[in-house]
Amino acid sequence: MIVYVDVDNTLIRTIGEQQHPISEVVNHLRQLNADGVQLFCWSAGGADYAKKCAQVAGVEDLFAAFLPKPRVMIDDQFVTDWPFCVTVHPEWCRGKKWEDYLSTDLDTGILNR
Ligand SMILES: [Mg+2]
Repeated sequence: MIVYVDVDNTLIRTIGEQQHPISEVVNHLRQLNADGVQLFCWSAGGADYAKKCAQVAGVEDLFAAFLPKPRVMIDDQFVTDWPFCVTVHPEWCRGKKWEDYLSTDLDTGILNR
């Protein structure tokens, strides 16, 4: 159970010069951690930026590692063809547990392959 988490407008929202944690996502990450999910945090701003934002959100300890987002991926499959890999919008996360990923209809448009 591996989940990668974006930073900007997912984990935190920047208004002016202030960064605000997105509480629904923060709560969801705490739940996933309790459910035994291994969490990674990545950002197009780089690994150090991802770690700094996780500290701001108070969830640094939940992540196994911080990574930059790739610009290129060399793979024999497109991401959209990876089995068991879905993208979830932060708004979907409110009140969800890991088991909701397993029981939800993945073609509803909330979860997109
Ligand atoms: Mg983002």
